[in-house]
Amino acid sequence: MPYVICKQHGGHPASVVCEHLRQAVENRERLQGVFYVEASHMNAPAWGHYICGNCARENQISELRTIWKDDDSLDRLFAMKCNVSPVCSRCFHDAMNTK
Ligand SMILES: [Zn+2]
Ligand SMILES: [Zn+2]
Repeated sequence: MPYVICKQHGGHPASVVCEHLRQAVENRERLQGVFYVEASHMNAPAWGHYICGNCARENQISELRTIWKDDDSLDRLFAMKCNVSPVCSRCFHDAMNTK
């Protein structure tokens, strides 16, 4: 799990998001249509990240919650065409819940 230190929320585990979502969180924009993709390794969730609608389309992701459980899923996740980076998970969730 990546770890971040947020100016507002202090240090805690981060959410991993694509660069577009991270930008939106930084700009305090409301997030919509956020996709979550998770991969498993040895039948346990190994890694998951959030991507925007454009990144989802580019990577042929069509389900808002995509959970891959096959053995190649982790390789596929890391091979995805988008730049992901950690962001404060509380800021991220605040941005998703903003009305
Ligand atoms: Zn994106
Ligand atoms: Zn924060």
